[in-house]
Amino acid sequence: MLIIMEPNATETDIDNAIKYIEQNGFSAHISKGAVQTVIGCVGGKTMDKRNIELLSGVREVVRITSPYKLASRTFQQDDTIISVKGAKFGGKYAGIIAGPCTIESEKQMDETAERLSEIGVTALRGGAFKPRTSPYSFQGLGEEGLKIISKVAKKYNMAVVSEVMDTSQIPLMLKYVDILQVGARNMQNFNLLKELGEINKPVLLKRGLSATIEELLMAAEYILSGGNRQVILCERGIRTYEHITRNTLDLSAIPVVKKLSHLPIIVDPSHATGLRDKIAPMSRAAIAAGCDGLEIEVHAHPQCAVCDGAQSLTPDDFSILLDDIKKIAEIVEKEVT
Ligand code: PEP
Ligand code: MN
Repeated sequence: MLIIMEPNATETDIDNAIKYIEQNGFSAHISKGAVQTVIGCVGGKTMDKRNIELLSGVREVVRITSPYKLASRTFQQDDTIISVKGAKFGGKYAGIIAGPCTIESEKQMDETAERLSEIGVTALRGGAFKPRTSPYSFQGLGEEGLKIISKVAKKYNMAVVSEVMDTSQIPLMLKYVDILQVGARNMQNFNLLKELGEINKPVLLKRGLSATIEELLMAAEYILSGGNRQVILCERGIRTYEHITRNTLDLSAIPVVKKLSHLPIIVDPSHATGLRDKIAPMSRAAIAAGCDGLEIEVHAHPQCAVCDGAQSLTPDDFSILLDDIKKIAEIVEKEVT
C-alpha cells in the first residue's frame, strides 16, 4: 500500500500517518519528493485503506498487492489444471460440461446423456437442488435426482456436475457428484465456501449476478484457503441495464482472470444469454478469447424441458457447435476435452 500525502501536508500529518500504519503492524518507507511525500507500507496483514484516507494531509491511498493471495498469479505462475474423468480444465485444455438445467427423470437424463456421450462429452450437468427465483417454480428432485444423474453418468462413464445450495447438502453431494457447482446466487455464501474448502473434490464457482471479478477471486480464495485447491471459475453473465438477453456475458472476464489468476475460467453461455440462438456465437467467442471450457445446457427435447428450455440446445445443434469449437480451439492452441 502506498500513502500519497497532499503537497501541503505538514510534518505532523506525515508523523501521524506513519504512527497510524506502525500501530497496525506495518513499517513505513518514506520517500520525500520536491512536492509530495509518499509513504510505502511494508509487512503487516490488512488495513482498511479508507481509515488512512481519512487522516489529515492524506491525498490518496493506492493498493499495490491484490487482496487475494492463493488465487493470484503471483502466488502460482503455472495454470492450475483440473481433471475429472476425461474432462480437463485449464492450461492447454478446454473442458466441456453439458446437460439439462435440471434432472427431471431417468428417461430424460438417459436420452440426453446417451447423445452427449456419443458426441464425446465426458462431464454431465443437471441440477437436483434448483435455486429458483420463485418459490412456486420446480425446486429439483433432491436426492432422487442425484441418484438418477449418478446412475446415468456411470452408464456412460461421465463425470457428474451438480449444484450444492447449502452446507447441509455437502455430504449428500460428495456421495453422488464429481464437481460441486456453487451457483451465482451463492457466490458469496461464505459458510458454504468455507466448508467447500475442506472437501477433496473440484468446485465450480459461478460469478455472482452483480459480482466484480475481484469479488469472484475473493470468493475462490475462501475455498483455496481452506485447503481445497481445485476451483474452476465460471463467467455466466452479469446484471446490466440490457434486458434482451437474460444477462450480459462479460467476455473480457476471461483475459482479465487469466492474467490475475492461475485458476481455470470457463463460460456458461446458456445462463448468460438465456436464448438458444445466442449460445453458439457466444460459445465460439468465449473459446476464441481463451476460456478453459464451457458449461452448456443441452436437453433431448428442449420444448418439453421443466426448466430453461428456451436456453437449451438440442443434442444435434450442440454437436454442430462442438465441431466449430474444436476448430477455433486449434487456432488458440487449446485441446477440447
Ligand atoms: C445453473 O447452472 O443451473 C444455474 C442456476 O446457473 P447460475 O447459478 O449461473 O444462475
Ligand atoms: Mn438453468
